[in-house]
Amino acid sequence: MTEDTVQKKYLEKIKLYQKYNRLYYNDDKPIVTDQTYDILKKEIIDLENKYNFLQSEQSPTKSVGFKPSKNFQKIKHKVPMLSLGNAFNEEDLKTFEKKILSFLSLKEITEIDYSAEPKIDGISASLIYINGKFTKGLSRGDGTEGEDITRNLKTINDIPQEIIEKGFPSEIDIRGEVFIENSDFKKISAKFANPRNAASGSLRQKDPNITSRIPLKFIAYTFGYAKEMSINNQTNFLKGLKIWGFKTNQYNKKISGIKNLIQNHKDLEEKRKEIAFDIDGVVYKVNDFSLQKRLGFAANAPRWAIAHKFSANSSISEIINIEIQIGRTGALTPVAKIKPVNIGGVIVSNATLHNEDEIIRKDIRIGDTVTVERAGDVIPHVVSVDLKKRNKNSKKFIFPLNCPSCGSKTVKDYNEITKRQDAVRRCVSKGYECEKIAIEKIKHFVSKEAFNIDGFGKKIVETFWHLKLIRSPQDIFNLDYDKIKKLEGWGQLSVSNLKFSIKQKINISLDRFIFALGIRHIGQENAKLIARHLKSPSNFFKLSNNKNIDNLYNINGIGNTQIQSITKFFLNKTNLNVLSELEKNLKIQNMVLIDNKGLLNNNTFMLTGKLNGVSRAEAKSLIEQNSGKIINNVNKKLNYLIVGEKPTTKKINTARELNIKIIDQKEWFKMLNKTS
Ligand code: NAD
Repeated sequence: MTEDTVQKKYLEKIKLYQKYNRLYYNDDKPIVTDQTYDILKKEIIDLENKYNFLQSEQSPTKSVGFKPSKNFQKIKHKVPMLSLGNAFNEEDLKTFEKKILSFLSLKEITEIDYSAEPKIDGISASLIYINGKFTKGLSRGDGTEGEDITRNLKTINDIPQEIIEKGFPSEIDIRGEVFIENSDFKKISAKFANPRNAASGSLRQKDPNITSRIPLKFIAYTFGYAKEMSINNQTNFLKGLKIWGFKTNQYNKKISGIKNLIQNHKDLEEKRKEIAFDIDGVVYKVNDFSLQKRLGFAANAPRWAIAHKFSANSSISEIINIEIQIGRTGALTPVAKIKPVNIGGVIVSNATLHNEDEIIRKDIRIGDTVTVERAGDVIPHVVSVDLKKRNKNSKKFIFPLNCPSCGSKTVKDYNEITKRQDAVRRCVSKGYECEKIAIEKIKHFVSKEAFNIDGFGKKIVETFWHLKLIRSPQDIFNLDYDKIKKLEGWGQLSVSNLKFSIKQKINISLDRFIFALGIRHIGQENAKLIARHLKSPSNFFKLSNNKNIDNLYNINGIGNTQIQSITKFFLNKTNLNVLSELEKNLKIQNMVLIDNKGLLNNNTFMLTGKLNGVSRAEAKSLIEQNSGKIINNVNKKLNYLIVGEKPTTKKINTARELNIKIIDQKEWFKMLNKTS
């Protein structure tokens, strides 16, 4: 790579980093997980270490947080409010201690005392007291300048307005964390991703009256500057804070030795679920103030402190209950309801237990202390059980042998390919007879990839089901709009919008129609293969005659499993009734044959972001109709990445790295000889 290319790549990353910072610190609306953010931060630091000509004032090695918002007056901190270095394991802690010893020219055997304090997941604030009176309160801002949020801070009961205790410095800037307790976060969790964003969003309101409505808390833990203070270590300072009337953390401890720090970290990670507010790690501070002074600060963090973070992928919690969910194919999926935990910035309260076999294999029980993992976009799942924490009276979880929804028998299918019994237990009800299966089937029917009815989401399916407005898919086309009009939250306009969206979908392609029926083993691809082969809806309906099913064996890609499932589907009377009703209500299109030498022949495409006037489904179908292929990952096989509004930056960056052509909607339409 040339210096120019490296520089360009670096600046792009810095720009993205600033964007994430603005959204997180200023707008309290992060758009990426902490993990993605931390990876980007590391990439920037790695580039700086590799190429020493790279530098930027906005680099994570030089900057903190985000510049103060225009909503508040800016005030310079007398002593900067910095961030903290991070440690993730024992090795990182050893390096941290080694650096301290080397900086102070001390021997390796020297024991350093640390103040180990739970790292509260909130936002820091600086409170300036002059002659015992709380006079100014600032946010961290960009570390150098903070926002004047005095009026907002004054609404917090934990912050003493006046301190009359003897020994309180005549001038001091007390620092600590403003946070929200888990029970209060629950009430506003729809608006914020995590308690930290909630605390920040609530505290930094333009109108302090709004702040006062949210029960924010404050815990003090340090100071920026202090006049005439005779305390000489952190432990005594924390004691002083308590005497002066501040709340401090009950889990603060003085500890020496890396092994002991690790044990304390482990203990706190386990206690985390019982603490009333969220903590995301433990902060270690060299206890002795004279050593702190000698160690001083690096660019954006003190050398005498470090944050030992909890894992961003997993956390420990407790199973409150095990619920059985029933999917559209009748699969019974056990889901653990857990005490909510923050995993990498996301509050997790449900974790899948996959299936009955998994529960038996791991002997998972209600009340168990478990490790829950959440990596990338994968659904959180229970990794392991801490048997030492198990209550003596706990009982094995008995997986239901009957469907919890309709009471039918449940079975485990024999898998012809693996020659083993399936791990998944299924309700044997044939479909619409089981309430839960029926609801899931209708959700599938209206979903994006199937009928894609605008404004008819999962919640509406549930509501309409409970009001007995729908029982089968055909009911969607014969809704009682007079009844809907009278429902709360519905008016003339929303009813006509719904009517319009449904009417629009009466014309449907054969492949979508087949997919929408939710026949087991018939996903989007198989539905396309069948539709292409059968060509017309009438040929599809003829499958109700068992003899015609054999015809499907001629389709390349359709095997025994799929054919058996289709046979079963057509043997069910309710399904036949649904089909005949749908046939009356819909205009199912003959299959448009795909041009094998179309304009996009031999090219692969991927879409990111929203296109103008073309839905994702229509774009995919346009590509396929012109012999292009859709790819779901940015990899070397991809030829074109089509970028719409608000694309995923990671996809663009990876495409750039792999030299994949990045085009917009206009350029793509040009390839299709299309103008709009
Ligand atoms: P930090 O939160 O990792 O650590 C510094 C902060 O710890 C201090 O400012 C203070 O508020 C807090 N703290 C809590 N208890 C403390 C104690 N006892 N003593 C001292 N400090 C204590 O650092 P940061 O730079 O503010 O934020 C980085 C974090 O924010 C990372 O976890 C990052 O992933 C996340 N982040 C995420 C996004 C996103 O878009 N998802 C964007 C920006 C930052």
